[in-house]
Amino acid sequence: MGREIIELRETDITTLQVDAIINAANNSLLGGGGVDGAIHRAAGPELLKECRTLNGCPTGEAKITKAYKLPCRYVIHTVGPVWHGGKDNEAELLASCYRNIFTLADEYTLKSLAIPAISTGVYGYPKPQAARIAVCESLTATKQYSSLKHIIFTCFNEDSKKAYEEALK
Ligand code: ADP
Repeated sequence: MGREIIELRETDITTLQVDAIINAANNSLLGGGGVDGAIHRAAGPELLKECRTLNGCPTGEAKITKAYKLPCRYVIHTVGPVWHGGKDNEAELLASCYRNIFTLADEYTLKSLAIPAISTGVYGYPKPQAARIAVCESLTATKQYSSLKHIIFTCFNEDSKKAYEEALK
């Protein structure tokens, strides 16, 4: 159990036919750049409409919506911490994102999730440290939640892939 459930894939998360893809959103939940922009573009304007009803999302928490034109069933929006050098509770907040994602996934009995490298783009979280948190929390979740069968970490660049490969060792 654990590692065999986890897979790395160099792909655009919006193409994946999983139960839920995770969005690295911002506190407004009203769209942004990076993976957030890509998800909203692919889902269509109905996603923004639903997001407007959610009243934003605090850092470290997660909220779920439908996926509209995306091939997945749900989008789980989470807000990672902005990296301020590591002494601003960033690690705990990032771990909290993952825990809240898996709690929601369990509530909805989701089997397969695709997760981008939360906080490691515009928010500047160092990729190796973020990958270790992602892998650690995911391994814990695979033991805790029996409905969780497949986690895909999407790597959008070579650095992310290396960071996950190291973290999985
Ligand atoms: P954050 O603001 O949380 O840092 P970003 O969207 O800037 O979020 O980046 C998060 C990660 O998502 C980065 O590693 C980035 O390369 C990656 N990313 C960007 N677009 C996509 C996409 N379409 N599919 C998967 N990953 C993506």
